[in-house]
Amino acid sequence: MPAKTKKNSLDEMPVTALPGVGPRNAERLARLGVRTVQDVLFHLPLRYQDRTRVTPIGGLRPGGQVVIEGEIDHSEVRFGRRRSLLVQLSDGTGAIVLRFFHFSGAQQANLKRGVRLRCFGEVRSGPTGLELIHPEYKRVEEGDFPGVEESLTPIYPTTEGMHQLSWRGLTDKALALLDTHPDWLPEWLPAELLSRFHLPELSPTLRYLHRPPPDAPQQQLAEGGHPAQRRLAFEELLAHQISLRRLRQEQRRIPAPPLKTGADLRRRLIADLPFELTAAQQRVAAEIGSDLEQSHPMMRLVQGDVGSGKTVVAALAALQAVEADHQVALMAPTELLAEQHLKSLRTWLEPLGIEIAWLTGRHKGRRRRQVLEAIADGEAAVVVGTHALFQQDVAFRALGLAIIDEQHRFGVHQRLALREKGAGNGRAPHQLIMTATPIPRTLAMSAYADLDVSVIDELPPGRTPVTTVAVPDSRRDEVIDRVRRACAGGRQAYWVCTLIEESEALQCQAAEETAALLSEALSGLRVGLVHGRLKAADKEQVMAAFKAGELDLLVATTVIEVGMDVPNASLMIIENPERLGLAQMHQLRGRVGRGATESHCVLMYHALSEHARERLSMMRATNDGFAIARKDLELRGPGEVLGTRQTGEMQLRIADLIHHQHLLPEVQRAAELVLERYPDHAQPLVRRWLGSRTEYGRV
Ligand code: ADP
Ligand code: MG
Repeated sequence: MPAKTKKNSLDEMPVTALPGVGPRNAERLARLGVRTVQDVLFHLPLRYQDRTRVTPIGGLRPGGQVVIEGEIDHSEVRFGRRRSLLVQLSDGTGAIVLRFFHFSGAQQANLKRGVRLRCFGEVRSGPTGLELIHPEYKRVEEGDFPGVEESLTPIYPTTEGMHQLSWRGLTDKALALLDTHPDWLPEWLPAELLSRFHLPELSPTLRYLHRPPPDAPQQQLAEGGHPAQRRLAFEELLAHQISLRRLRQEQRRIPAPPLKTGADLRRRLIADLPFELTAAQQRVAAEIGSDLEQSHPMMRLVQGDVGSGKTVVAALAALQAVEADHQVALMAPTELLAEQHLKSLRTWLEPLGIEIAWLTGRHKGRRRRQVLEAIADGEAAVVVGTHALFQQDVAFRALGLAIIDEQHRFGVHQRLALREKGAGNGRAPHQLIMTATPIPRTLAMSAYADLDVSVIDELPPGRTPVTTVAVPDSRRDEVIDRVRRACAGGRQAYWVCTLIEESEALQCQAAEETAALLSEALSGLRVGLVHGRLKAADKEQVMAAFKAGELDLLVATTVIEVGMDVPNASLMIIENPERLGLAQMHQLRGRVGRGATESHCVLMYHALSEHARERLSMMRATNDGFAIARKDLELRGPGEVLGTRQTGEMQLRIADLIHHQHLLPEVQRAAELVLERYPDHAQPLVRRWLGSRTEYGRV
């Protein structure tokens, strides 16, 4: 008996402690992450059926599942397009047809005139009126009055070998245990918090969701808006919030070098720039500037739409570190993007006498050793590269600042691994993370609660918005003509070939073929080609030629997504855009509209699914990265948008970041309250909801 086991807390009691649960079932349950009795209680129904009342047939409407009872008027087998058994059932208030496509001779013989049936099924309208297709049914004998269910019937998410009846048995036992030992499942939300945020208590909440009473608001439950569901979503979001805040606190306890300087180099760079910083750039640069002077590590995320000018803001931060005699690492997710940064930084920082080193996975042997030495003895003040910079043999003399561009492609793990690179004397570097994937504020608050967020919410002046159209690829000739005209007018164009991500080889091949075809169709134009399989030097050469205006058209794979900055390019063709997500299309489109000429983007699709159509019309409707990100979030969900799906961070069991967005501000306040006044509730809450994943912060 469970009552006699030593463990007296449901979160430590294995499912096998429930009567009738053996190792086989335990194994099946484990596949769903259900290991303890507490897990069983938090495994909630997906939906409910109402078998709590018998509905008069005369009152039925199409849609919805119902229980009905009546007597068979007649039955017959019809030979239409499909052979079917039709049984008409009536109860004095009306009649309905039960339709069976698969039936045995015995079934047919039993469903005869005069027989009483109790049925459950979904009401649909059929050719001759209302029908139940393949209802569950049982015979009701004369003088027999079968009861109805006392609560809504839960339907649980499940796995092979676990039937709904097993789930009902399992949850019945777990709920019974909770009834007899209420203190075995502690309420970690303090009473103060429950009343302040109008949340019901835990045990009644769980009981309600497993066995809702007959009068429960079914629509509200289906939409996840019931107070009981809200309460659990709240607790889950709170657990995540607390875990991220603790991660943040922990990070702040590590000392970092305060980078205090006279700002001399920064002033010189600003004076030398061919443009004025926008107000947004100045504000964000100032926020970073004061963070860097602190003696705990900066953890700041800078969001700014494509082309908002994040690089120069990063360069200013780098200067501050260099002035304070520390090194800077700047990391980009692709070699191409890293190269672009290298160039920008060389243009801006070398005139100030600052040495910039370059390190990617390609560097081997002597060359690599030389770079590593320059990094180790501090000769290289700024190092630009790819994730090769994370590698173990890379040791800095005094790393003061790590800048990570396009953060969503680096995981939290990599971000934290940097800490190990250190600033000397057991100190951690400051961290600046830049992303062009604008994340809606509420989402950023929960996903990045361990970071401070700055937003560059302004584009440099003189940019004209890009006009976007979608055309079917049957009009390819017109599109080619359009390229011809743009280039004849002295402008440049991109032609992007997309293919399913997994096969880079196929993607490169498609780009090669397209480039050959276009060179032929557009004789007289200078056509270049870049893709991921070219040698770095060749790629570099093609891009440089395009940038210098020596090429009119650049055919490319999605490698140009980031890193290309050619203001004279004003036309972009994206082939098969239906294969891309919104964020990626927005990034690609950001390659045009960088100069003063009016720019155009042509989305040349082959076939559109419902979702693809929605994405393309969103692209046509707006250039606003935040609006696009919100839509992206709606279509793909936060795991995809934040790039955390694979890593399992921010995986929510009950809460839904979109439906429960409105809870997030309250969750923030609740997290403060728990950490301040009920610190010993923090750990159990995090453990209940995040379990072993709580360790993800500690690399
Ligand atoms: P992103 O935010 O997408 O990384 P970049 O830093 O690459 O943007 O900047 C895009 C282009 O705009 C670059 O050519 C950069 O030199 C230029 N730029 C940056 N800030 C300004 C500004 N304030 N005024 C004009 N041009 C700017
Ligand atoms: Mg950039």
